[in-house]
Amino acid sequence: MHYRYLVILLTALLIFILTDCSGVTSKAAQRYTPHLNDNVSYLDTADNGFSRGWRGHERADPMAWFDAHTHLNKKCTTLALAKEAIDFWRKEFGFTDITGAAIIGFPGSGLFDYAPTDTSIAAYVWLLPDNPDIKLIDSLYREKRIKGVKLHMRKIYGSGLDYKIMDSKEWHAVYEKCGQLGIPILWHLNQRHSSPELVYGEDKSNTWQKLNYTNADVLKWFETVAKRHSKTNIILAHFNFMGYDSLGALLDRHPNIYTDGSSAWLIGEYHTLTDREKSLIGSFAIKYQDRIMFASDFSYHVPDPLKSTRYRVEHYQSGIRFIMQLELPSKVLSKIAYRNALKILNMNQSFVGF
Ligand SMILES: [Zn+2]
Repeated sequence: MHYRYLVILLTALLIFILTDCSGVTSKAAQRYTPHLNDNVSYLDTADNGFSRGWRGHERADPMAWFDAHTHLNKKCTTLALAKEAIDFWRKEFGFTDITGAAIIGFPGSGLFDYAPTDTSIAAYVWLLPDNPDIKLIDSLYREKRIKGVKLHMRKIYGSGLDYKIMDSKEWHAVYEKCGQLGIPILWHLNQRHSSPELVYGEDKSNTWQKLNYTNADVLKWFETVAKRHSKTNIILAHFNFMGYDSLGALLDRHPNIYTDGSSAWLIGEYHTLTDREKSLIGSFAIKYQDRIMFASDFSYHVPDPLKSTRYRVEHYQSGIRFIMQLELPSKVLSKIAYRNALKILNMNQSFVGF
């Protein structure tokens, strides 16, 4: 008798679990509906609705991508080498997929001779933590060689230094100067903790264990900088290694902070985002549509003819694929694909895009 009750009870429990789970799944599926291209609603009424429903599935496609965070290899010290590297990879990635780019170079790079010759390129000068060279920024800007300044904190953490070296009078003068010139700072501020096997054995968390401060301490200090220099636009690289909730809150607190999705927004060719992910991340993208930009962190270099370019092309495309999988409204998509970057870099649109 008892055994029969137990079987009935377990069956009832199983039915409850199954119905509940499928309920959750169907609710998630219901929540997600892809945004269609504006053309779909246009066709509903155009020509008295003659083509209503034709390509009724059409998703938005910007057809132009401005890569907001890339590098030029140190070896490209002349205009000719910079041009060779950039031309090669543009052809490799496809001209629509890389309509333009913001490229970072160290002082002395051939990039600063190349950039004034190409209206689709914006150059950033990368200053190391011990070099708050305000005169260099000023002269490169006046000669129309740069449109921004790049800062990177990893060297500070890796060498066990105090991040407050970026709080000096000289650095504050640089932050202020960028605001006066109307050029952004692209700032790799915090550093991620990753499984060693995912960063080719270079365990970044080790460097942090030797420091007497945390990512949160650095961010707290940075917020005082962003507040004090509120006229300076700052693009935090790689979503600053933050999840959507905390990143969104940071963007809410500081209207002068922007962010690029390089190393965060990637999806491989064998994967697809789930409806749940599309809903969550898509909502974030829509809410912060004026503050986010597409970027790859690719490093342009003169290629080794013996090496295949497939891995790099696939990596590049995986960033675009991620954003396209979000199936965003067309206006949001074009902002993330290129409009936001052009705006913050004060560039004219020299290409066709939707
Ligand atoms: Zn980078």
